[in-house]
Amino acid sequence: MQIHILTLFPEMFQGPFNTGIFQRAIDRKLVRVSIHNIRDYTHDKHHTADDYAYGGGAGMVLKPEPIFEAVESLKSEIQGEEGVGALPIILLTPKGRLFSQEIGGELSKYSHLILICGHYEGIDERVHQHLVTDEISIGDYVLSGGELAAMVVVDAVVRLLPGVLGSEVSAVDDSHATGLLEYPQYTRPAEYRGWSVPEVLLSGNHSQIAKWRREQSILRTLERRPELLDKASLSSEERKLVDRLKGEA
Ligand code: SAM
Repeated sequence: MQIHILTLFPEMFQGPFNTGIFQRAIDRKLVRVSIHNIRDYTHDKHHTADDYAYGGGAGMVLKPEPIFEAVESLKSEIQGEEGVGALPIILLTPKGRLFSQEIGGELSKYSHLILICGHYEGIDERVHQHLVTDEISIGDYVLSGGELAAMVVVDAVVRLLPGVLGSEVSAVDDSHATGLLEYPQYTRPAEYRGWSVPEVLLSGNHSQIAKWRREQSILRTLERRPELLDKASLSSEERKLVDRLKGEA
């Protein structure tokens, strides 16, 4: 997968993509991330990428021209490559659809993504209306810029690319992958300050361990995020258990 990120602050991306799982994915050529400075697509000597808002109000708005030019130039480069299908052009904005594991999975299917990071008061509405194909928010709060949001989306998507994690199983069991929160995890020592690891995890009985983990996932989801259970894929036995526990609560 090739990911292109348009930003006014390319220096913010030094670090997060150069560590751990991400660096390994880049080294193994499973993903390539290119950071593009929006100012490189301006034509005046001050490289002006923002301007005052029409109608007044505090704060600057990102101008449409450099963003349109950057995206159009990338699009023609990408679409010249072989086997490129649909090309999502995603604006990070608090007005977008709420990002989730499901949307991460959807984005992981594309060969290329273009992400646009806003800043200041936001971006000229014509970019929203006539350039982007998708708008994503990472939560109901306002960040100073789209860079951190882009990092969140990219990290969640790259984890889902085949071969990025050591074993496919690690992503399959993650919280939200199944519509449930993940079960509790333990490592050595088996006892710490008098707190013991549940006996079943030391038993070596894989079917009992799988059963315990599944139950714990359901219970944890019921306690912390009960609304997720409405959409989770549960067996009829599990659904009955949930209904009974909800009734008891
Ligand atoms: N005035 C805008 C509004 O109320 O919708 C907020 C602008 S915000 C200060 C600047 C930029 O940060 C946005 O253009 C967007 O790119 C990014 N941003 C802020 N919050 C975000 C969120 N929750 N999800 C994704 N991007 C966000």
